[in-house]
Amino acid sequence: MSLHQPQPLENCLEAIRYFFQNSEDAVIVFGQNYQILTTNIRAQALFINGFDVLTNSDSGVADQLVDPETSCPVLLLELLLQRVMAGEVVNDVELLLNLSDSAQDIWLSVSGFPITNDQDQIENGVVIIRDISDRRSQIAQQLQEAQRDLLTGLPNRSLLVEKISQAIAQLDRAPGAMVAVIYFDVERFKAISDTFGHIVGNGLLLQLVNRIQACLVQDDLAARIGRDEFVILLTSAQSQEQLLAIVEHLIAELSKPFTIDDHEISIRVKIGIDLSQSTNSDPEDLMANAGTAMSQAKQSSSEQYCIFNQDMRLGNGESLRLELDLRRAIRTGEMVLHYQPIVIIKSREIVGFEALVRWNHPVRGLLSPNYFIPIAEETGLIIPLGWWVLRESCRQLRLWRNRFPQNSKLFVSVNMSSQQFAPDDTVEMVQTILQEEGIEGKYLKIEITEGVLIAHSESIIKKLGQLREMGIQLSIDDFGTGYSSLSYLHQFPFDTLKLDRSFIEGADSDYEKLEIMQSVVRLAWNLGLEVVAEGIETQKHYAQLRGLRCELGQGYLFSRPLAQAAAEDLLLQSVNDNLLNP
Ligand code: C2E
Ligand code: MG
Ligand code: MG
Repeated sequence: MSLHQPQPLENCLEAIRYFFQNSEDAVIVFGQNYQILTTNIRAQALFINGFDVLTNSDSGVADQLVDPETSCPVLLLELLLQRVMAGEVVNDVELLLNLSDSAQDIWLSVSGFPITNDQDQIENGVVIIRDISDRRSQIAQQLQEAQRDLLTGLPNRSLLVEKISQAIAQLDRAPGAMVAVIYFDVERFKAISDTFGHIVGNGLLLQLVNRIQACLVQDDLAARIGRDEFVILLTSAQSQEQLLAIVEHLIAELSKPFTIDDHEISIRVKIGIDLSQSTNSDPEDLMANAGTAMSQAKQSSSEQYCIFNQDMRLGNGESLRLELDLRRAIRTGEMVLHYQPIVIIKSREIVGFEALVRWNHPVRGLLSPNYFIPIAEETGLIIPLGWWVLRESCRQLRLWRNRFPQNSKLFVSVNMSSQQFAPDDTVEMVQTILQEEGIEGKYLKIEITEGVLIAHSESIIKKLGQLREMGIQLSIDDFGTGYSSLSYLHQFPFDTLKLDRSFIEGADSDYEKLEIMQSVVRLAWNLGLEVVAEGIETQKHYAQLRGLRCELGQGYLFSRPLAQAAAEDLLLQSVNDNLLNP
């Protein structure tokens, strides 16, 4: 096979012409004064209204080349041609061609290079223009898909953040405008999905989204940012009242039962809100704050929603500060105990107190354990805090028992965290504290939640047994909120079962709940457990409990948790007339 000898290009002009004319790319050759020397078929088809759009800004033609970054009109002359004629090779500049008679912009990728003559002088500029609209729309679609949740079609987190940014940027356009970020998830969604199956779970989410959408107007936007987590970006509210009206409407709509495949399912949502009127706000901050406010709402038994305030901030830096603060507080004596009476339901006589810790913060005032116990648990500070609580409660009980010898059975009930049961010396710690404070084991009740039993059932049975040998009474706290299985209770040496207040809360209106409560009390009774009903708030609760065989109670109806002096007054009064009149 003989080697092919390249021919001078001049000999192939026809071929080159053919290639030039039929190229998929538009090709335009300019002369030294930017005049067009020749164009191919594709170029004529593309610039259907003529080539003035490339070089002449006041040609009277309404077509435009637009810079996609700035959305400003540009001229090819300035952008590219002058550079090419100065000797530069320019590659792949993306532009939009906006033809006056078409609604659709055409995406162009434009390149150019100079052509020199024998004397190395630049004689021509060649511009090659490729229509990349197809590629662009594919990318746009992929972007779009990547930013949408496949199940519900709602924007995902990244699109949401983009939309929040846009909304923030527009805040200075209208006086009084605000951006609100509303965050919520579906409580117990996993349990619902596990019970009824994935398909019903998805069906629930779809119906939920329909209801959310029906509550929104104008540019308000709902996004799904987790399996059962939703965020609404609300820009339509003009005032906080309007915002809260929308939130309340949303809660009311979502509280109505859903019917999915013949299953009637009720859900509960707790909502966190953050709002801003400043163009300096950060979208991620707004979302994080709304999330924090949601956690706050979840900790409240009465609030369905919370609006973020700075006190709630528990971001990384904040939680570190809180941790340091808490460490110092435990050392410097800012923690205090409040005492809530536990009474004999029939006689309303005070028989004991539950010790409940508070943080007397020098700046923020009295802080609820719901605020700092989670951080204490997370950081392990719950262990020193828990031992402090036990010691302080025993010290106080010693004083009260000395002062009120008539109340010979007076006990204190102390909450212990599962973490206090992890070290080997749990039992010794309790023993030492009791000895040093001069309290017999039988006047101490230790409250633990069901979670403790699940966490370390092996070693804990032993420790609980040893505590019980010391005469200490053991209470299972918040019964009914966790695994709520009476069947395992007999494996553990409990004396008392504290019925969570959610039982009493519902039993008012819900006959079924009353029935459940009744059977729990009956079973507990059969297992030889004493029952304390928590959260007795109304006379109606009280009347219902009297009907059950539930001997002890605790709740706002009798008394809120009180500071030491107030608790002591109440005790004095109770000892005097043996009766508390709610
Ligand atoms: P808990 O042990 O179930 O304590 C009862 C909670 O219910 C207390 O909230 C009490 O104020 C509240 N409560 C009592 N009666 C009523 C009522 O009639 N209605 C309503 N709505 N609430 C009532 P508090 O003091 O905010 O404590 C919350 C939780 O913090 C406690 O729940 C306990 O889990 C934890 N906690 C408190 N002190 C300690 C502690 O010293 N150590 C540990 N580990 N946890 C503690
Ligand atoms: Mg308790
Ligand atoms: Mg409780």
